[in-house]
Amino acid sequence: MSSKQVALEFDQQLAALDLSQRIEFIDNSTKNATFTTSLGKEDQLITHLIDAGSHNISIAAINTRRLFPQTIELLDTTRQRYQTKINEYLPDNENVKTYEDSFGANGFYESVEARHECCRIRKLVPLEQILNPADAWITGLRREQSNNRAHVPFCEWSDKYQVLKFNPLADLTSQLMDELITKHDVPINPLHNKGFPSIGCEPCTRAIKPGEDERAGRWWWENDNSRECGLHQRKILQVNE
Ligand code: SF4
Repeated sequence: MSSKQVALEFDQQLAALDLSQRIEFIDNSTKNATFTTSLGKEDQLITHLIDAGSHNISIAAINTRRLFPQTIELLDTTRQRYQTKINEYLPDNENVKTYEDSFGANGFYESVEARHECCRIRKLVPLEQILNPADAWITGLRREQSNNRAHVPFCEWSDKYQVLKFNPLADLTSQLMDELITKHDVPINPLHNKGFPSIGCEPCTRAIKPGEDERAGRWWWENDNSRECGLHQRKILQVNE
């Protein structure tokens, strides 16, 4: 069976499970699964679920060095709250210097190309490092977050990273997520309660207005409704390709 067929089969099986069972399933179906956390609400809930089940899933956080101070503080709080180790990955200093020499420290405001290059060196290069030894990648993507994520499956094959990509929260509503976070007293970023449903790097994230989709505050100056940082490009991840 091809990797894409395995992903499709897993996708169907995961749909029938609850959240804890999905984490259990991923743990039992893979050898070296890695969960990448941005420390957003979704990811905090997944960290809670992983910790609650004593799973052999490693957790990685990419510190782009442009995060909000509240996010860095939450990383410390989360480490204290849970026994699960969270490995931190930083951008390469040389890459950052080269970027800043070429585009300026905040060159990402000037063009889409400059923004993509900043995301590449601060996020994608560390992600490659994280996923290199992994056979599976767990994310907190949800269909409700944006139009671009409306069809996120529970499992798909990533040709780019050669891993099974699991999205166990794909069908979770924002309301149910908040209820679970409150019920289990999961620590979250205080910015979520100030109009920031999606939190990335400080210079590239702002609060959203009522009625806007959850990711509207990310790279708001760009005129592209499908904007992403490149970590979750939909076209490379279709199960049925
Ligand atoms: S979100 Fe902004 S600061 Fe962060 S890596 Fe991308 S362009 Fe750079």
